[in-house]
Formats: sequence, C-alpha cells, structure tokens
Amino acid sequence: MKIGVPKETFPDERRVAAVPQTVAAFKKQGYEVLLEQGAGTAAGWDDQQYAEQGATLVSSRQEVFAQADVVLQVRSFGANPNALSDLDLLRRGQTVVGFCEPLSEGATMKEVAARGVNLLAMELIPRTTRAQSMDALSSMATVAGYKAVLMAADAVNKMFPMLMTAAGTIRPARVFVVGAGVAGLRAIATARALGAVVEAYDVRPAVKEEVESLGAKFLELGLETEEAQTAGGYAKAFDEAFYAKQRELMAKALIENHVVITTAAVPGKKAPVLLTEPMVKDMQPGSVIVDLAAERGGNCELTQPGKTIQVHGVTIIGPVNLPSAIPMDASLMYARNLANLVRHLTREEGQLHLDLEDDIVQGLLVCREGEVVHPRVREALGLPPLETPAEKQQ
Ligand code: NAD
Repeated sequence: MKIGVPKETFPDERRVAAVPQTVAAFKKQGYEVLLEQGAGTAAGWDDQQYAEQGATLVSSRQEVFAQADVVLQVRSFGANPNALSDLDLLRRGQTVVGFCEPLSEGATMKEVAARGVNLLAMELIPRTTRAQSMDALSSMATVAGYKAVLMAADAVNKMFPMLMTAAGTIRPARVFVVGAGVAGLRAIATARALGAVVEAYDVRPAVKEEVESLGAKFLELGLETEEAQTAGGYAKAFDEAFYAKQRELMAKALIENHVVITTAAVPGKKAPVLLTEPMVKDMQPGSVIVDLAAERGGNCELTQPGKTIQVHGVTIIGPVNLPSAIPMDASLMYARNLANLVRHLTREEGQLHLDLEDDIVQGLLVCREGEVVHPRVREALGLPPLETPAEKQQ
C-alpha cells in the first residue's frame, strides 16, 4: 500500500499530515510513503529527515496523487478552497483523509464523491474511548487552548504571576475561561502554570471536578444542570432566554477578570453569544478577550474572525487556525492521530479495509463509490437517506 502526503496549500497552513516518526511506523508496517518535497519544512522537518525514515520524496503533488492509494492531508477538500484544483488528480478507488468541514461544505463533498474516491473527514471521528487515539479535534483543541493563553498574556496590560519585589507586590492576573471542554481545560492549565488566578464556567456540571483539579475555581451560576448535556457528554443548545440569563449572571465575573478566554461550543451549531457589547464596555480597560469560537461565529458579538480589535479599551482577539501557529507539535499530534487511524483501518489485511459495520468508519466516511454516504452530510444536502445493506438485501 502506498501512502501519499502532498504539501498543504491552504494560505499560512504550516502543519503537515506525516512526521518522520509516523513515516517510520508506516514503513515498519510494510507501507510505502510518498512525500511531496518540502511538505514538512514549515512544521520543522526537512526532506532529509523524512528520507532517513524511508520516505520517497517526489517533486510534484501530481505524482503523489497519481501513485498513492491513501492520501493524508491536514486541510483536505472542503477545508481548503485551493484543494479544488486537486479534484482532477483524484483516482477512482483512492482514499483521501483530512479535515473537510463536511457539514458546511456539502457541495464540495458531492464533487469529491463524483470522482469515485473514499473521503474520510477527521472532524467526524466519534468521541469514544475506542477512537480516542484518533481524535484529531481534541489534539487541535489542546494546541489552541494553550496558544490562546499565550496570546492573552502577550496582549494584556498585566503580568500573570504574583510577584513580591523590592518595588512591592504585584497581584496576579485574573483569568476567566468560559467553556471547559478540551481547549478550555488546556487554557486553564496553561494560565495556572503562568501563575494566574483562574476561574471557569461550563454549562455541564460534570466538569466542575476537572476544573478544580487544575487549581481553578468553578463558577457556579445556578444554570448548570445534568440536563445541560447530551448522553454523549456534549453541551446542548439552549434558547435565547437561557443565554440571556447566563450573560446576566456572568457579568460580574467579566468585570473582575483581566483576561477572558471563550471556548463555548455546541457541536454542529453556531457558537452561543455569551458576551455582548455592553458587557465588554463594563470590562476593565486594558483587559483582553480571546475568542476561540471565532471560526464558529464567536462567543463575543464583537469578535472579528482572524482579527485583533480594540473596543471600549478592551482587546478582542478572534484567532483562526490557531494549531497552525504551533506547527511542530500540532503536526506531531495530528500525524499520530492519522497513523492510529491507518493502523485501525488496515489491521486485518495489511491493506486499507473500510468495514462499514465499524462505528469509527461509519462516523468519518463521507464519500464512497460515487456517493455522499454520511447520513448527516446527506441531510445537510437535502438528500434522502441511503438504504442500509440489510434493506438492500430485502
Ligand atoms: P466543544 O469544543 O464542543 O465545546 C467546548 C465546551 O463549551 C464544552 O465543554 C461545552 O460544554 C461548553 N459550552 C457549550 N455551551 C456553553 C455555554 N453556553 N456556556 C459555557 N460553556 C458552554 O467541547 P469538547 O472540548 O469537544 O468536549 C466536549 C465533551 O466531549 C466533553 O464531555 C469531553 O470530555 C468529551 N470528549 C470525549 C472524548 C473521548 O471520550 N474520546 C474526546 C474529546 C472530548
């Protein structure tokens, strides 16, 4: 089996889908690895390091697509407008794996399906214990949560730690994290490591213990109930009345803190607006908001994705593609997630086998045999559900 890794073409994308360590693992499993020259340079690995682990360096992406049975990418079709020029390079029966934004980019999914390839979307890996080692969203959220704190520390008008100096005592910065999922918990741990006093809020009461174990205070607003989460452990979407109440109850915390990091998200939905302009106006001048939900509409209504703005003396940062800002470790984590997925998909025959009964395959398979097959993507496209294999036999 040949695994191909083309260079990323999304603007400013510095990550890469394979690192020398995963190349070595693929070679050990008996696979050939074709890497487009320079694919890992921006992440910190030169061609020589890949060659030393047994990768074959090729000079054009055409060659990667022409030869590879499995193409591994960071931003694949759907998540990269420039990928459309790769459509003509696809070969029927080939498998492509990467981030695809399949639920919002249905039209592109249809185009890819028409080429007869299997498309696997990494953002659809189920959040189950079995699939944990392949959970690329968690990996990237970890990187984003860490980086968000560094950006806030850089922009805020205070130092994070408490300092007792000859010039007197400097009180620590106060950080408020809204949303304590993977990114939020990493942000809490990072802010604590820098010496800040941290409090956090989440609608899911289950995270209280995790927040406290990191040395932060869990803010109780009286809104969080077991009903705030689905059976899978995710937050539910609430109505506007709930969010209005939440905004009212969070107002005091916003005034007291110097840094606010928002990560609140509801899977498949626009991020809830938890910070309004009047709330920002009441914050201390010189304080900072880092809105990690910027790409999903923002938790602050003033956030501009990809921009840093100043409003009422408050700096509002709306970062996009944060994992690419720490390309080496983001690539290491993502490439390992991919290598674990490839191992899972090839564990029987040493060849890629898409077992349609497997919940991981069912979760992330978007296109197969000329069709968009993922039920949620079909629904988003207004397509009728496909017959199950059992229904077909009848
Ligand atoms: P996410 O990125 O979807 O959302 C971030 C956080 O925002 C969540 O904790 C959510 O509860 C919170 N949130 C939503 N609405 C909010 C609001 N109005 N106010 C405050 N907070 C709000 O979350 P995530 O990091 O993907 O994690 C979500 C869940 O998935 C957690 O239970 C996590 O433990 C679980 N998870 C499980 C696995 C696994 O088992 N393999 C892997 C990753 C995550």
